[in-house]
Amino acid sequence: MQTHLFINGAWESPLRGGTLEVIDPATEAVIHQAPAGTAEDIDRAVSAARTAFDTGPWPKMSGADRAVYLRKIARKITEKREALALLEVRDNGKPLPEALWDIDDAAGCFEFYAGLAEELDANPEEIVPLGDARFASKVVQEPIGVAGTITPWNYPLLMVSWKVAPALAAGCTVVLKPSELTPLNALELGLIAQETGLPPGVLNIVTGTGPDAGEPLTRHPDVDKLAFTGSVATGRKVMIAGAQDIKNVSLELGGKSPFIVFADSDIEQAVEWIMFGIFWNQGQVCSATSRVLIEAPVYDAVLARLVEAAGKIRIGNGLDDGTLLGPIVSRGQYDKVLAAIERGRTEGATIAAGGGRAEGFDRGYFIAPTVLTGMSEDNYAWREEIFGPVVCVRSFETEDEAVRSANNSRFGLAAAVMSKDLARCERVARALQAGILWINCSQPTFTEAPWGGYKQSGIGRELGRWGLSNYLQTKQITSYLSDEPWGWYIK
Ligand code: NDP
Repeated sequence: MQTHLFINGAWESPLRGGTLEVIDPATEAVIHQAPAGTAEDIDRAVSAARTAFDTGPWPKMSGADRAVYLRKIARKITEKREALALLEVRDNGKPLPEALWDIDDAAGCFEFYAGLAEELDANPEEIVPLGDARFASKVVQEPIGVAGTITPWNYPLLMVSWKVAPALAAGCTVVLKPSELTPLNALELGLIAQETGLPPGVLNIVTGTGPDAGEPLTRHPDVDKLAFTGSVATGRKVMIAGAQDIKNVSLELGGKSPFIVFADSDIEQAVEWIMFGIFWNQGQVCSATSRVLIEAPVYDAVLARLVEAAGKIRIGNGLDDGTLLGPIVSRGQYDKVLAAIERGRTEGATIAAGGGRAEGFDRGYFIAPTVLTGMSEDNYAWREEIFGPVVCVRSFETEDEAVRSANNSRFGLAAAVMSKDLARCERVARALQAGILWINCSQPTFTEAPWGGYKQSGIGRELGRWGLSNYLQTKQITSYLSDEPWGWYIK
């Protein structure tokens, strides 16, 4: 486990010498003291990234040359797969098979953006047809500059990869501030970058708290681009900080995503996808389908099967064989999830399953898979992102009612619809106000497809070619071709 910050290609002590306790959420044991960077360290990191962008080889290299580094990073992640997955489990708590999935996706993300970096060479410019033959115009894409990237704790290495891989592919240089709760694999990525010989200053990693390291990064005048994933409240602060210098800002802010189940659905499949949509990663998923709407004729049957299956989920340390639900990431998040369940209950919800600490654990932040029913649309638990294994279930009578209720939210990240009638699924998918729509499933995520939200779920799109565009800016180059003098002032 790394004990230093990664700045300008070297391992540096934080200037103020601070450390962050890293806690295993399954045992509550302190497993590491990570470096706690502050504004001075952010300054050093941004200065290294600025120099690497302004005078270094990285942004001027061909896409194919940058792709060589990205592919090496992907290969190294794959070589270290088991070790990185184990660190992820101890840092975040998730079950090991989920962590292995995440690490493979992280490697796949670097591989994918290596391909897009090469495509940049294949399409270096676009000719724009003009209505005036005296001029010719072409458009080129250039890296935005220094990218300040701030990532959350729910998918520690994967969320880092979603930002760092496209930023590097585009030719940006990066300062990364991972969540203080899960700094371990972000620092391992620094080691991987060093092992691949990435030029100094291209990737800099400063672990530290939001106020001490994150905020200075968002305010730094030499940062051109901010890419953030986390809560709406912090996203708002990032946007306000970025407004000072009119930085390019992209935000991925989570949601309260609906899942509409029509009565013609297969009940077992519906319950499987409802559970996948809310219990995977302990429900700490921005796109978790945490509001389930079930058509009245099958409401009782789906609910009964859901409650039964939720009660059988194997809860435990993510390192134990067969664990399907690990602990919540931290004491703070654990308290927050329990408080949200309690508030939902006091505002009228019925607890149909779970509802509190998982039984049989004297240590660790374990919460039982929880199903809440009988609440109104005004209930806190129905409205707000809980970010835990808590699903709220209501019934509906008509398609219109389901769509209206699903759209009655300030969020709009994802939504799911299930029915054997595919025309209805398509119609409902079009009517739902969200950036990601799943039909007859919930949560499958592909590096190739755009990811991001409507409404307060964010601005911009990650992944796919949209993720690369996040780190590119567009320049038009227009030439005057005519031999005739322009002749406006000088006749
Ligand atoms: P935050 O949004 O506060 O944290 C996300 C990242 O922002 C972390 O790296 C954090 O650092 C950093 N940060 C915090 N404050 C600032 C700041 N002022 N300026 C710049 N960066 C900052 O999320 P929390 O960890 O507090 O989680 C709270 C809630 O956010 C969750 O319950 C969930 O609802 C939502 N969330 C959504 C996620 C998503 O995927 N969209 C992911 C995580 C959380 P540090 O960790 O050191 O505080």
